Amino acid sequence: MIAVVSIGPIERSLVEGVVDSVRNYYSRFGISVEFVGEVPAEPFSVAFNARRNQYLGRVFLPTLSALREELGAVAILGITELDLYEEGLNFVFGLANPSLRSAIVSVQRLRNEFYGLEPDDTLLLERTVKEAMHELGHVFGLKHCPNPRCVMHFSNSLLDTDAKGPLYCPRCEEKLEENLRKLGVLS
Ligand SMILES: [Zn+2]
Ligand SMILES: [Zn+2]
Repeated sequence: MIAVVSIGPIERSLVEGVVDSVRNYYSRFGISVEFVGEVPAEPFSVAFNARRNQYLGRVFLPTLSALREELGAVAILGITELDLYEEGLNFVFGLANPSLRSAIVSVQRLRNEFYGLEPDDTLLLERTVKEAMHELGHVFGLKHCPNPRCVMHFSNSLLDTDAKGPLYCPRCEEKLEENLRKLGVLS
């Protein structure tokens, strides 16, 4: 199972939409994808940087990984409204740690509203699915892909995210399958 949790308040319909799309893809490997509930944001206050008004993304990953082990899940993905950053980067849409097999995606900068544009739920779902698929790819050992249509292509901006597709290119998919087999997830 790939476990999906929301971290702090976020609209349920968005999280469920992401779960549906990711499940739709990963079912081909016989891997289920389940929303397992909301985790409160308060325990992650240690990640908060008041000067930046952002959260250091990596702080979330060990806690998510512990929850993953408790659940007996092969991977865990957190979806949050909290704005994330990493050292040397102004922000990140998400990040992942393959050894911990945990990942997190922030939707804040995927929203049109963040840029003063009209909200667009369809576009927001598309973007969040792409970021979720991307970070799960990293969880399963995929690196960035030079193919700009591949979901493993690096997104530095929403333009990059909108330009790429929601799926792994054939080369990445082949590697993904190989890595899942190594993990013992595939028979
Ligand atoms: Zn990446
Ligand atoms: Zn690729």
